[in-house]
Amino acid sequence: MGPQDEARVIVAARVRPMSEQEDARGEQGTMYCPDQRHLLVCHGGREKAFSFDVVLGPQSSQQDVFEECGIKKLIDMAIVGFSCTVFAFGQTGSGKTYTITGPHSRFLGSSQEPQMYGLMQRSVSYLLDQTQSMDGDVSLSASYLEIYNEQVWDLLTPWLTSSLSVRGNQTHGFYVENLSTVEFGSLEDFMKLLEAGLRSRRTSSQAQNEHSSRSHSILTVSIGAKAANGDEGTATMGKLCLVDLAGSERLRGPSSSEDLLEEAANINRSLLSLGKCISALVDPKKKSGHIPYRDSKLTKLLSDSLGGAGITLMIACVSPATANLQETLNTLRYSSRAKRIKNRPIAKQVLHEKLVVGLQGEIRLLRRENMLLRQHLSSVEESARRSSVPVAVRYGSSDPLGKVETDHLAEGSSCSSACLKDLLQEVMQENRKLQVEKGALLNHIQSSKQQGALLSLEKAQLLHKLDELQSVCCMCRVISGTAHATCCCSGPSLCGQVARCSLQCLHHQLPMAVISPLHRRRALVALPPLRALQAVACGEKYPAQTEIQSEPPSQSAGLHGRRSSGTESRGHVQHFPALRDSRALWGQPVEPQSCRSPIEVLPSAPPISALSKGATTR
Ligand code: ADP
Ligand code: MG
Repeated sequence: MGPQDEARVIVAARVRPMSEQEDARGEQGTMYCPDQRHLLVCHGGREKAFSFDVVLGPQSSQQDVFEECGIKKLIDMAIVGFSCTVFAFGQTGSGKTYTITGPHSRFLGSSQEPQMYGLMQRSVSYLLDQTQSMDGDVSLSASYLEIYNEQVWDLLTPWLTSSLSVRGNQTHGFYVENLSTVEFGSLEDFMKLLEAGLRSRRTSSQAQNEHSSRSHSILTVSIGAKAANGDEGTATMGKLCLVDLAGSERLRGPSSSEDLLEEAANINRSLLSLGKCISALVDPKKKSGHIPYRDSKLTKLLSDSLGGAGITLMIACVSPATANLQETLNTLRYSSRAKRIKNRPIAKQVLHEKLVVGLQGEIRLLRRENMLLRQHLSSVEESARRSSVPVAVRYGSSDPLGKVETDHLAEGSSCSSACLKDLLQEVMQENRKLQVEKGALLNHIQSSKQQGALLSLEKAQLLHKLDELQSVCCMCRVISGTAHATCCCSGPSLCGQVARCSLQCLHHQLPMAVISPLHRRRALVALPPLRALQAVACGEKYPAQTEIQSEPPSQSAGLHGRRSSGTESRGHVQHFPALRDSRALWGQPVEPQSCRSPIEVLPSAPPISALSKGATTR
């Protein structure tokens, strides 16, 4: 089956026999099977016909179901890597559990009766037979879960107190996280794990069924197969899922407890979302659109089986009794619709094997390409060798073959030998000229390359410098005296009182003002990390690493700072790799760096004594 092939969901219908209670009530049968594909239901005096892939009447045995529904074929597909699902649905008491696992009494300590085995045991038995005769490694493992009240529980680890999560991704689709898997190699091993799981299932007594399953259960048998000869593409991971759905139940009357009502509501909700998915899948308008798999855990986990990459068999279980007619009709309608669902089955190769197979294919292609290229190259060489002969002749080769060619040329043309000689000389001259030109060009290229290298070195240095300029935040000490700031202060400042010192980013022409309380004798000025770290204090330019000292009060108000002789002195100039660090020093909140926000350093600056530890005091 190729990846493009579509496979319709196979739908079978199984009618169970009348139960003893139904017989005792004198219930009448409502349906009969004229052949193996049709089912006629008597309804309101009329007969309604349904057709299915297989119809199994009340007399059909468990083995008939296994043989006639094509389950062997499904298992064969699972062995080669496909995901195959069999699920039974129908109202409570219609025979779903009986069909999938066998009668409930079978698991309550009564003697084992292989003829009562359901599809689970029969499928695993067939699977073991098939895989035991296979060459290579085969590993079989099983997981078993139930969905109860929209929670997933691991039936093989019933002691766990928390439910499991359903996750989904592109590669694996939906899966249950941390679900345990148990390896088995014989039917006995499998029976043990199945019985343990079945004992953990939640059941309760319902009107239609004494041991009604109140949860949906999914048994997944994983089949890992690897061929002995290590052929490419032979490592596969197939799956066989057997799903026993909880039946829809109409809970009537006040006798129904709150728990039962909640159970029923959850069962009905998930069955409803299953119905919605089926409707969406068969609706030609919605087919390529949204399928509401995410509506319930059940539909998430069945998404591969419904419209996905799996192969699916649905078994519609119905009761023949008149009392169940309405539910029976619903089930049959529902399953008739499901027949129109189409899947696109894809066999699953183990991922790394897939990769190896892909790479092997690629190597093969490359080898072939290599060979073709070699052939091509040798043919080119051959033709070059042949074509080099006349050239040699033109340059006066003494090759006898060349002589023949020369003679031939001389014969064939009207030129005299003198003429040819001239021509030869001309060509040789031209050749020399071209060689000189080529040499000059090569030199030029060489020097351009060197120049380019120098330029890129210079550029790197400049970029480095620029980087430094952009990242370095410089802090200068303004040594206070009594500064008068003509351009920034209004009026003369008083000695020992406040003076203002304005710093300006030259590059952006924006003020980065610093107010200096001069009574502290020293103030710190921080420049934000800007491209032009040159500052202007009161109209005078200051490079970033400058100690600015105010003038004594006696001096004129024209000059308000002077450059310190110690501009190199690190004791006065502090560098910070970023504004953030300088701000941290001031205990100010760090703001995004921007030359548009003037730095108000001093109003919130700590006293200079705290900052000037180790600095020179004037
Ligand atoms: P469901 O799982 O649909 O609720 P069960 O499988 O538990 O229903 O079946 C309900 C009752 O009917 C059980 O007692 C079961 O043994 C009986 N039953 C169901 N199908 C058959 C059948 N094909 N032959 C005989 N008894 C059946
Ligand atoms: Mg059941």
